[in-house]
Amino acid sequence: MLAVICDFAIILTNFVHLNTQHSEIKGILSFPRNIVILTHRNPDGDALGSSLALMRYLEKGNHTVKVILPSEYPNTFSFMPGIEKCLVYDLKRDASMEAIKKAEVIFCLDFNGLDRIDKMGLEVSESKAKKILIDHHLDPEPFADYIFSETTASSTCEMVYQFIVDLEDKAKIDRDMGECLMTGIITDTGSFKYSTNPRCYAVAAALKELGVDDYTLNDRIYNTYSEKQLRLLGHCMANRLEVIPEYSTGIIALTKEDYHKFQIGRGDTEGVVNYILMMDGIKVAAFLREQPTIIKMSFRSKGDISVADMARNHFNGGGHKNAAGGAAYAKLEDIVNRFKKELPKYVDKIEL
Ligand code: 5GP
Ligand code: MN
Repeated sequence: MLAVICDFAIILTNFVHLNTQHSEIKGILSFPRNIVILTHRNPDGDALGSSLALMRYLEKGNHTVKVILPSEYPNTFSFMPGIEKCLVYDLKRDASMEAIKKAEVIFCLDFNGLDRIDKMGLEVSESKAKKILIDHHLDPEPFADYIFSETTASSTCEMVYQFIVDLEDKAKIDRDMGECLMTGIITDTGSFKYSTNPRCYAVAAALKELGVDDYTLNDRIYNTYSEKQLRLLGHCMANRLEVIPEYSTGIIALTKEDYHKFQIGRGDTEGVVNYILMMDGIKVAAFLREQPTIIKMSFRSKGDISVADMARNHFNGGGHKNAAGGAAYAKLEDIVNRFKKELPKYVDKIEL
């Protein structure tokens, strides 16, 4: 009985707390504001979808809104309504910093720490603006005034939908916003294959009611590989995949020479890591890239194996339990070796 009362008290506390946060935010947004929306470097479908949907929602409330992306977005997402209005920090640094300086409200979407937005992080930490974080990654840093963190959410898009509903503005969600939100849900769940929960299906259903065409979105998102990308994928699988069966792991390491030979550009390696997990018996996938100045890493796992812990503990990174990443100024070979060395701490060895 006591346990039930305690549970109820926790639920009630959360409810009251949530409502207080929402009513305060409603107050802040009750007259036109200068608002900046920030999302993480190398923005993906969820980062872009949540930012663009929120931008459109806030514009309907007569706010002046600027979405700032730390780096450019993949071409695949150029169909998203409003994407042409985004400011890219890498291309327009002064304008981006100026917009942050002027902001009265800053939304931080789909990232959990200021290091994910590069130099803008310092500007944000010093800003007097009200900061609102909406995110589904583990362990958010407490830099915002209002923190909406749900690690069980499929995507930040799912959370932005709920955020707007909780502000009692569901009627403002239109089809364009729906396309953006559905894009993020599709990309962060691999078209509803992982990280799903009942609410994400409910949100997807509501978006379909608005006329969002998920078939076309899937086609635009996933069937847009260039010939070069498809050949690169073949190269990765045929020549660069190393399987470590006793640790149920596959590694692909792309060298600088590969980057040169295949003329690899931004976004060309998107999705490659997921193919490793298609192999029967593989539970951990690592995709390591020797970019011009830095080694970028993508990790994926199945079940209880936490690549987020691995990324955080050894590769200056983080992310979700089953999808994480990191970066290091190091030699590719050293990163591959470090990965192999640390692997036994995270994965049980199987006798073959
Ligand atoms: P991806 O492999 O698709 O680039 O990233 C997968 C996930 O890992 C992302 O959702 C992101 O949260 C996380 N991630 C990727 N790179 C980094 C990084 O350098 N630092 C941190 N903290 N997280 C990362
Ligand atoms: Mn996300």
